Amino acid sequence: MTSSNKHDSDSSEKRWGRGRKDRAGKKESDEEQGPDLLEPHILRSLSNIKITSIHTSCAGSHCVCIDIDGAAWLLGRSEKSSLGNLGEGGEDFFISENAPVRLTPQDIGAPKGTKFVNAALGRNHTLLVGSNGQFWSAGVNQAGQCALPPCAEVSSFKLAHNPEVDGNKEKVVKAAAGINFSLVLTEDGQVFSCGSAEKGQLGNGKTGEHIVTGGKVVFDYEWEPIPVRGLEDKKVVEIACGPQHSIAMDDAGVVYVWGYNGYCRLGLGNQKDVLIAQSVPQFAGPNVATMGLHVIAGPSNSVVIDKQNMYWMAGKWKNTGDGSSGQPYSSFRIMQDIMGCKVYHAASGGVTHFALAPDDEAPVMTITFGQGASNGELGLGLDQPKSATKPQRNEPLIGIDVIQLAPAQNTTFFLAAPNEKLSDLPRHPLDMEAPELCVVCNKDLGDEDSPLECEKCDNPYHLKCLDPPLDAVPDGEWFCPDCEDDPGAPIVVGSGKKPAKKPAKRPAPKSVPDENAEEDGVDEDSGSGRKRKATVGGKAAPAKRKK
Ligand SMILES: [Zn+2]
Ligand SMILES: [Zn+2]
Repeated sequence: MTSSNKHDSDSSEKRWGRGRKDRAGKKESDEEQGPDLLEPHILRSLSNIKITSIHTSCAGSHCVCIDIDGAAWLLGRSEKSSLGNLGEGGEDFFISENAPVRLTPQDIGAPKGTKFVNAALGRNHTLLVGSNGQFWSAGVNQAGQCALPPCAEVSSFKLAHNPEVDGNKEKVVKAAAGINFSLVLTEDGQVFSCGSAEKGQLGNGKTGEHIVTGGKVVFDYEWEPIPVRGLEDKKVVEIACGPQHSIAMDDAGVVYVWGYNGYCRLGLGNQKDVLIAQSVPQFAGPNVATMGLHVIAGPSNSVVIDKQNMYWMAGKWKNTGDGSSGQPYSSFRIMQDIMGCKVYHAASGGVTHFALAPDDEAPVMTITFGQGASNGELGLGLDQPKSATKPQRNEPLIGIDVIQLAPAQNTTFFLAAPNEKLSDLPRHPLDMEAPELCVVCNKDLGDEDSPLECEKCDNPYHLKCLDPPLDAVPDGEWFCPDCEDDPGAPIVVGSGKKPAKKPAKRPAPKSVPDENAEEDGVDEDSGSGRKRKATVGGKAAPAKRKK
């Protein structure tokens, strides 16, 4: 561990501490992080961070968001060190969504200038890919799925073993992960695997099943990434992993599958596990229009979007009827209900399926379906059924410019571009218990001069009480000076800045008669006046917080 890493752990410990205090105060158990959210909410904690991609797993309950600066924001369950146990160890470790941990590549020893560009999450492990072609991993590593020598857990992010060809280390650009294996894609389009070979996930032609002392059946594992066979002479551009199977696509659009084939999830018309990557005939050409555009792996299914923007699914995707365990889709079939939609992006969570398609009126149509969704993860709305067997439009997201879908096992994350409609969505947490009156002057100046509320912390500020003052309500989102100063600060309900006890003399707007001012504490007034002045130099906010 580098010293900078240690430093980060220290600061994240503080963040975690605050988050946990909040939960303890609400008497919530670790299983009950709060009520399920039945419609999409803006996540306050990251509402003023420019996130460029979100990474989740259909088999996991943790999440990695990568921001525009190439830092990672980690949140969710991490009891098996899946998020590197940043902050705190223990059985029930959890990083609150209200206090995500920020991790930079440099925190874990990456060279200066390296950014995180991709991430892959399994059930209990995580891979973070750097712009320099290296990758780091943490979490369960019993089968070497972290690309590190097998051990129960890699407790903090460590530099993983890059794949090698002829003794040269290959540059990794993308990663994907299942429960006990991982894939990495190199800049040359080669796919390498590591972890357990039990169901053919490694694509090396064998499971390595053998019996050890005591009659126990074990399988081979590889912790140093090995090439996936069947793809050697292809230039692969996309990889995706389900819990125990994989799907990939080359630059021509040929789709390949391998690994566990229960419920015909590989779409090959049978349930036989595939030990060497095999192309799916219906997407193998030569008709270009029917070849792949994107590939997605779900928990017991696979999805292909073809170059005509048609959505195809194979395997089991619901509990009853056609597409269930009794009658899985044995080969890739078109989803009839969305045949008319030109799907260009899709993702699958624990029991959920999401897709994006162009819409006539709105920026984009968010399509969703999934049987047995019981936690509101389809986000269909408060008075709507939680589960949907047929694909349908997600109504709360109408008008929202969704740019990426990231469903996890039973939570869904959406990445959306800011627009007017987005600001209308509810926020999580819902009620910040922010002060009613302007946190600078603590005065009610009437409706004519009602304070501006921060989009993240809800603290109110009069336009004229800001430093520098604002002439008009700004367009779009507005974040208060404190939130601007520390964009990733954790959200703590009820932590709203205590309103100033007394109004400040100098910045008091002319329209406010002096007699409104309280009598005592003149010294403090001048003190706060100094602080505001210092804000101009950009250093007042931390001073305020310290106070
Ligand atoms: Zn004010
Ligand atoms: Zn704020």
